[in-house]
Amino acid sequence: MVQNLLRGAFILCQITIEVSVSLLSGRRALATVITHAIAASALATVAPKELSRARLAIVLGVLAMIPDLDVIGFHYGILYADALGHRGFTHSILFATIAAVVTPFIAFSKLRVLRRLWWIVVGLAFIATLSHGVIDSFSDAGLGVGFFIPFDDTRFFAPWRPLATSPLSISAFINGPAARILMNEFYWVGIPLVGLFGGLHLIRRIGGRGDG
Ligand SMILES: [Zn+2]
Repeated sequence: MVQNLLRGAFILCQITIEVSVSLLSGRRALATVITHAIAASALATVAPKELSRARLAIVLGVLAMIPDLDVIGFHYGILYADALGHRGFTHSILFATIAAVVTPFIAFSKLRVLRRLWWIVVGLAFIATLSHGVIDSFSDAGLGVGFFIPFDDTRFFAPWRPLATSPLSISAFINGPAARILMNEFYWVGIPLVGLFGGLHLIRRIGGRGDG
């Protein structure tokens, strides 16, 4: 068990280092999106054994990246501050709810609807999708997150914003302080998550021993 945790932490470090190196060497990658994916994938460790954790980790990682597809809007004249702009609707609670309900039908279609495992997938998918906006709200620049769009267009930031905002274009990111942003994210997002999910995994394993 401890070995699994160490392996997970090691993989996380390895991914972060690989991404940093690839960015510094000028190959294409998008740090913030990767950090969102890693953070959400870690949620799969708390899922029950009946669900394929590998599949769940991939699905949750993808869900956490989807909100930033809103940058496509810039090419169609949608402004950052618009409801459909960056950190707008796709970062909202309503979007996370819709994505969560759709997820089991696409990725876990054998699950019986409204039964326990179905709800677990929906719940984790909701947390994974919304985690993107929550993490964004801790960033130090740009506009806040429109959690209540389309009902309320107000943008929100967390009261404490330790995360460096990644430039929106890949070239600006690569030419900018890539390593600083990545290490900053790893420090504020990666390490707490390893601790949190490692702890939860441990509690679940100890709790599960009684019922075999
Ligand atoms: Zn975002």
